[in-house]
Amino acid sequence: MPEMPEIQAHAERLTERFAGRTLEKFVPFNFTALKTAVPAPDTAYGHQLIEVGRRGKYLLLQFGPTTFVVHLMQGGRLLADDKLSAKPRGGQARFVFEPVERPDGTLDGAALLLTEQGKERRAGVWCVSADHALSSPPLAHLGPEAASITDDELSAAFAANSMRVHGFLRDQRMIAGIGRRLANEICHRARISPFANTRKLGADGVSSVGEAIRSCIAESLESERHRDDMSSSKDRPSAMHSRTGEPCPDCGDAVRAVEYSGYTVNYCATCQTGGKVLADNTTSKFLK
Ligand SMILES: [Zn+2]
Repeated sequence: MPEMPEIQAHAERLTERFAGRTLEKFVPFNFTALKTAVPAPDTAYGHQLIEVGRRGKYLLLQFGPTTFVVHLMQGGRLLADDKLSAKPRGGQARFVFEPVERPDGTLDGAALLLTEQGKERRAGVWCVSADHALSSPPLAHLGPEAASITDDELSAAFAANSMRVHGFLRDQRMIAGIGRRLANEICHRARISPFANTRKLGADGVSSVGEAIRSCIAESLESERHRDDMSSSKDRPSAMHSRTGEPCPDCGDAVRAVEYSGYTVNYCATCQTGGKVLADNTTSKFLK
């Protein structure tokens, strides 16, 4: 799933391409695409796109009084659409703009199309009042932004929530914008076990995790900003993530995995756990 760096760079690309365009209409292609009833999308019609912003892993299309909040989930994409076909493949919703004249005199009629391949249909759009966007669902319960969280905020959140640090990092209510890949990378860079308890990390652990969050995000954002479109997961920088069995770039030990039904925790035993091999939940039940 795209995380904060991919979403942020994409928001910047969309702003550059579409800011200033006037919304003509919003067209959902199925009844699950629009998650809200009030305010109606037509409250944004006739307004210019101010900016495509971001909060956590959500894109925010800001039109004067109304903001459309878009979540891409796993396979969603929000891309320029010149074809305007009646039934686009994987189409969830379309933002149709009034055509504008290009410098060469031709018309730019491109829309923005939200697609999601597969049958899950989890990507979606929330239409919210711009004044209350950050305090309305789905953004209301997001934790502080990962890129700007301070060590003091992190320390307070660790103290208040006894969790495995990998689970904490992926919990959007605790810290917003990090997913499975960055959680694996951050734990490795901080030289901390993904299963370490947040309350037992101490001041050194807090500053290691804080520094790892900032540097991992900065590197991913830098690489993502050099692209013309959002990367696929295999193109994103990783020392640990999806590298089970490959050598750790820092010490050469084999990258290890703890498998869960929906995801894999990757780590390096030499760098992170003093050589201890972590057991997954299902296995350790039998070992007790
Ligand atoms: Zn290592």
